[in-house]
Amino acid sequence: MPVLVFDLDDTLYPELSYVHSGFRAVADFLSPLLEVPAETLAAGMIADEAVQGRGQVFDNVLRQHGKWSKALVAACLRTYRQHRPTLSLYPDAERCLTRFADWPLYIVTDGHKEVQARKVAALHLASRVRHAYLTNRYGRHRAKPDPHVFQLICRREGVTPEEVTYVGDNVRKDFVGIKPLGFKTVRILRGNYAHYEADAAHEADRSIHSLDELV
Ligand SMILES: [Mg+2]
Repeated sequence: MPVLVFDLDDTLYPELSYVHSGFRAVADFLSPLLEVPAETLAAGMIADEAVQGRGQVFDNVLRQHGKWSKALVAACLRTYRQHRPTLSLYPDAERCLTRFADWPLYIVTDGHKEVQARKVAALHLASRVRHAYLTNRYGRHRAKPDPHVFQLICRREGVTPEEVTYVGDNVRKDFVGIKPLGFKTVRILRGNYAHYEADAAHEADRSIHSLDELV
């Protein structure tokens, strides 16, 4: 039986929605301290991120209100990372998981393991896949492009790599490590890497614009 494996961020749900959810949690935390309504703070952070990226958002909001300190920036970061996000699957991801509900489905995702686990929980994915592999649980060196957890999936399902398809968005790391082993790869063209041009080693076997194209 073929096995279908999905990346998480920007493949099954828009990662920016996690970022915005985190900003709203930080806004709730900062609101009493800065004496500014949380909605105002959240809107400011969301606008700032859109222009400058997320690197300095907490520094900027604290500076803007004359309350910058290293400790407060750290507290914002903690609040962001520990918040329980509100997230929704992309509509085509929702349909895809339903369409392939009888297949062995998996998730493979990099990133902070507790953060990724909270995303999986928020999206109610635990009941829809056999397992969500958070590569971080196996050590940082097991992050993509390392093929380790993909090999664990083969062992668990008793299949060869040729029977496993991985769907991801990040051409920089999602496919280059597993392609030489025979895994099938599909690139979903969305998120930050949608327009990124990759060489043959990094490119997937095929590209799609929507998970509805997976049949
Ligand atoms: Mg991704």
